[in-house]
Amino acid sequence: MRIFFFFLAASWLANAAMAREVDYDRLDRDALRTLVDLIKLDTSQPAGNEILAARYLASRLDEAGIESKIYEAAPGRASIVARVRGNGAAKPLLLLGHTDVVTVERANWSFEPFEGAVSDGKIFGRGASDDKSIVAGSLEVLLALKRLGIPLARDVIFLGVADEEAGGTLGITWMVNNHLDDIRAELAINEGGRGYIDPETGRYSSFQIGTAEKTPRRARLVVKGHAGHGSVPTRDNAIGVLAGAVDRLYRQPLPMALNETTRTLFKRLAETSPPEQAAVFRAILEPNPGDDVQERLRDINPSYYSIIRTSVVPTIFNAGYQRNVIPSEAEATLDIRALPGVDPEDLWEQIRGIINDPRVEVIPMKVTRPAHDPAPLSSPLFRAFEEVIARRHPGAVVLPTMLTGATDSAQLRAAGVAAYGFGPGVVQGEDNGVHGNDEYLRVDAYEEYVRILWDVVTRVAGTDQVNAAR
Ligand SMILES: [Zn+2]
Repeated sequence: MRIFFFFLAASWLANAAMAREVDYDRLDRDALRTLVDLIKLDTSQPAGNEILAARYLASRLDEAGIESKIYEAAPGRASIVARVRGNGAAKPLLLLGHTDVVTVERANWSFEPFEGAVSDGKIFGRGASDDKSIVAGSLEVLLALKRLGIPLARDVIFLGVADEEAGGTLGITWMVNNHLDDIRAELAINEGGRGYIDPETGRYSSFQIGTAEKTPRRARLVVKGHAGHGSVPTRDNAIGVLAGAVDRLYRQPLPMALNETTRTLFKRLAETSPPEQAAVFRAILEPNPGDDVQERLRDINPSYYSIIRTSVVPTIFNAGYQRNVIPSEAEATLDIRALPGVDPEDLWEQIRGIINDPRVEVIPMKVTRPAHDPAPLSSPLFRAFEEVIARRHPGAVVLPTMLTGATDSAQLRAAGVAAYGFGPGVVQGEDNGVHGNDEYLRVDAYEEYVRILWDVVTRVAGTDQVNAAR
């Protein structure tokens, strides 16, 4: 027992000493410059042109004496990989971010989206938050590992990947299918998590670490009936039949189910929330919580309601073309987000069961993100996030999180890489324009993100840490 404690203490001190070796101020400055440089490169979808970012990153790596390789899935659609080697005692850690951004409605922006202006403590531009800050931060951590000659037990791999915003077909999917050996890792840090800053105190109150994601599964519902005159009611009116099916799905959600991520999330929320909300979180952890409990959870946060079940949301309804004609066909689109572990065939059976009408055809649509298991909470990477955050932000709660949306972590987890989501913090309640207009990132939140990333990476990949953990 005593020896065990000694090792813990030794590893803590060694880590603190190692983390001090980095010049955080320089890390801040370099990371800011890199982010601004990346924002200036227009890599917006659908054209992407991520080759611009890949070439820039290659030149920065080259200056630092790190070899890199560019992979072009299609003309201009490029990803880049670089590696700093460890001694091979443990399997690699992958740091990735996507270099593409969503498009801009320029007329609705109050500043130039591809300039990267920095003022009032903010970095302005498309990609400032999603996801060039993560690309730039990951790159700077890699460069600093090399510059400082940190002894590593694992290789640390950097991946700047194309095409995330369109589902990853020309990016992560292509890399996993064609070049998995070049990016294979035990652990990965990707987008999909963030810290929350309390607007009153300016302190971090919580950190979400992404450990799970729902899997997008879409379907079309098609009803074919008889066309006819709008003056004569018929029993097989395609609109009426389809509306009934959509209504049943809307009123009857699929059953709720918790997993390691959501159970731990609600447990930690129960421990740290005001009494009224804490009661709801405790109740949702009980076996078979009633609809009333689930509705109270939805009142607290609609995303919490989404992550306790496979969600079925009607998003498009197409039918009819003239007010006095009964159309022969009606169609609806469902945006379905499946919980991890849900078998697609079982899912379609459940949906057909709820619709309970053979006239409604359920047609599954092509999906870009594969089904996958969540990343475990017991890994050295998740523990490193907890330890670093506890040290830098005492009192802030670490919340394992299931995203309702999808990221490149889906493809990585499906390929056997335990991918975790982490990113720059936001002030609670503030809209930073991600996927919308006037995207920005707070400089202080960005700097703290890079510092935490550095501490976590050196903790997980540095030789002292990995050896001490054995
Ligand atoms: Zn993103």
